[in-house]
Amino acid sequence: MTYAIVPAGGLGSRMGSRRPKQYLRLGRAPILVATLRALGRTRGLAGIVVAAPEAHVAATRQLLARHRVPRILDVVAGGADRQESVWRALQRVPEDARWVVVHDAVRPFIDSALVERVRAAAVAGAATCGIPVRETVKRVRDGAIEATIEREGLWTTQTPQVFTRALLWEAHEKARRDGFAGTDDAVLVERLGTAVAMVVGLAQNLKITTREDLRTARAWGRPRLRA
Ligand code: C5P
Repeated sequence: MTYAIVPAGGLGSRMGSRRPKQYLRLGRAPILVATLRALGRTRGLAGIVVAAPEAHVAATRQLLARHRVPRILDVVAGGADRQESVWRALQRVPEDARWVVVHDAVRPFIDSALVERVRAAAVAGAATCGIPVRETVKRVRDGAIEATIEREGLWTTQTPQVFTRALLWEAHEKARRDGFAGTDDAVLVERLGTAVAMVVGLAQNLKITTREDLRTARAWGRPRLRA
């Protein structure tokens, strides 16, 4: 059985709008709805657990029902950061789940083929997708370059990421014990010393974080037509 977790518990402070960005519109539907519809087309996906900001749980349930989003298992209250939101959602994933797909609420431009490719790469327990870095990477401090990072072998990482439920659970438990905060789930598994496979993601798999990202996403049009 494969289940998905969608962390949607962010408050969108970088967007500068009062409403969290996952609830802003992209075409006819909110970004969260577009993401869940794209994810929901994955073959063999048994259910999706969404982590919403605590104050938005009831409204999110209503929103997903109103838009008839399929395969929603539950909407739970997210935590103070992404990692805590994933952890809380993971509590709600049934024990018979073998695979768990984790996918950001603010990445609506995925397609089910990508999810299936990452799942296929996770045979040993864990996989993510990403893009090799093509530009020259600098570390900058106070408006000046401090260092140039060797680009060879560097990738930026995206979601979906796929793990066995047991491995994701163990990785989160260890991070919590150690007080480690990561910005994705793969890093928590890496800390166990377990290999995480990397497959090429999609250039279009934009993470809508800033106002400019939202303008880009809106200019691209509806995710379904693009995918
Ligand atoms: O914080 P970041 O930009 O990495 O957010 C990536 C995803 O994590 C977003 O979908 C956001 O809603 C979610 N998130 C969450 N709980 C938080 C913070 C972010 O589920 N407390």
